[in-house]
Amino acid sequence: MKRIAVFGSTGSIGTQALSIIKSNPRRLKLVLLTCRSRIDMLRRQIEALRPEAVAVEREDDAIELRREYPGLRIYCGRDGLNEAAQTVEYDVMLNAIVGIAGLEPTLAAIAAGGTGKTSNLVIALANKETLVTGGRFVMSAAADAGVAIVPVDSEHSAIFQCLMGNDGNAIKRIMLTASGGPFRGYSLEQLKSVTVGDALIHPNWKMGRKITVDSATMVNKGLEIIEAKWLYGVEASRIEVVVHPQSIVHSLVEYEDGAVMAQLGFPDMLVPISYAFSHPERWATDARNINLITLRSLQFDEPAGETRRSLDMAYRVMRESEESGRDSGAIALNGANEVLVQLFLDGKITFLDIINTLERVLDRHNSRMVKGIGDILEADRQARESALSFVGR
Ligand code: NDP
Ligand code: MG
Repeated sequence: MKRIAVFGSTGSIGTQALSIIKSNPRRLKLVLLTCRSRIDMLRRQIEALRPEAVAVEREDDAIELRREYPGLRIYCGRDGLNEAAQTVEYDVMLNAIVGIAGLEPTLAAIAAGGTGKTSNLVIALANKETLVTGGRFVMSAAADAGVAIVPVDSEHSAIFQCLMGNDGNAIKRIMLTASGGPFRGYSLEQLKSVTVGDALIHPNWKMGRKITVDSATMVNKGLEIIEAKWLYGVEASRIEVVVHPQSIVHSLVEYEDGAVMAQLGFPDMLVPISYAFSHPERWATDARNINLITLRSLQFDEPAGETRRSLDMAYRVMRESEESGRDSGAIALNGANEVLVQLFLDGKITFLDIINTLERVLDRHNSRMVKGIGDILEADRQARESALSFVGR
């Protein structure tokens, strides 16, 4: 029986993870749930799954929950979230928080894993921002503590699966597939007038709002280049992005002998989430099967158009990181993107303002080495301020 802690349980990944836990009562036991503000949904989750502990953001919510559920341990605030990560006993942390807010809980879990309180700790990582902002630091802390990081992001889970059985063989190339999002093939003129509603309709995946906008700008794929680089220790120049509108091939790995391994399936996050829990076993899921005959053909294209600039920014910050060890560019890209996406969702800036402003933030950014969480949070804060000043806020 694996004890599971779900961070970000009320989100898109979090709720799908809970459905997997419910379907596997003899294998998985839920021990901890966390969310920020969707407390009514959290109540329903508490009643359905009876965790030992929960963590919420606001003190008021914690007080009310303590009254309603006397036997439940309740943590609150940012410190409470990290304390929950350190003190609740679990075998697998699913980190499905969105944004850099997921970084500290990952580090707290690694620290707890390193104490031996929880041996063989696995972090099932959906929160890609953990690796975008703290990749070098997080991967080495996890290795030192003997904590395994298993990706949940579908492309990275695909790569993880393509690497199985190939220990010790150098990766020649990683091909990350990208659906291209709702604006694939749009001209600059067309992109000028897209709305928030347009950006929130993803052709293949139903996800949280932030990552859905990131998929439309292709910043998501830029973040995924950085995520892949840290997870698999390859130079960014060996990571290629291929536009694949059907999202059936989730990513590919090429080896020195010319063999290419790919992982395929109907686009459904149940599969990578379930695999992060079951690995190295595979358990049945409700995911639809693919039928190659009805699919008939799969399309692959080069990334093109305005959104290609989002990939170029990711390559640019990774090149700098590889050449000089200065990692702050990726933190700046991520932090500025988080505030710009929120402003776009609030109707305060246009879609293209996101990409244009990110480039300006990177042009102005003074890259530097980051030695720990303090440096990361400071670079994040400065990038947010810089993005806000460019859009006059
Ligand atoms: P959602 O926005 O749907 O859910 C985010 C979760 O995190 C919610 O439970 C939310 O709580 C909680 N949360 C938000 N902000 C904070 C905060 N500051 N502190 C603590 N908790 C917080 O996001 P998704 O599920 O779509 O994505 C989660 C992560 O997984 C992201 O990093 C994303 O990039 C990645 N990912 C998602 C995929 C998907 O299919 N959705 C696919 C691949 C990767 P509340 O609901 O109360 O606000
Ligand atoms: Mg992905």
